[in-house]
Amino acid sequence: MFKGSCLCGSVTFRVTGNLTPPSACHCGQCRKQSGHFWSATNANDADFELITSDSLRWFSASDIAKRGFCSDCGSFLLWKRTGSERISISMGSFDDPTRQTLARHIFVADKGDYYQITDSIAQLETS
Ligand SMILES: [Zn+2]
Ligand SMILES: [Zn+2]
Repeated sequence: MFKGSCLCGSVTFRVTGNLTPPSACHCGQCRKQSGHFWSATNANDADFELITSDSLRWFSASDIAKRGFCSDCGSFLLWKRTGSERISISMGSFDDPTRQTLARHIFVADKGDYYQITDSIAQLETS
């Protein structure tokens, strides 16, 4: 079981199933919302449970997905593709070590110009 929360602790969740190897997303939307690139794992909806979520808000930056964040502290926590049965969860929101390893960079064509990707994992132009 994996537990996580936003910075202020108003939004808390747990994941009971497996996490997928995380991706680091360099798209413009993730960079705007997170302040840098955004690393996230995926879980099945059936394995994901919000424990407390009064301050959770969803923002749709496009038609294809919505982005969940805490309206009290601003933490960017969740990304949900419309119609998908999976949810993306911010790696930074987990309370304890997850024993996951970053697997790939995605949307590197949109990355910021102020940093280099210097590790040896895959770099995908889109997703
Ligand atoms: Zn919060
Ligand atoms: Zn992104």
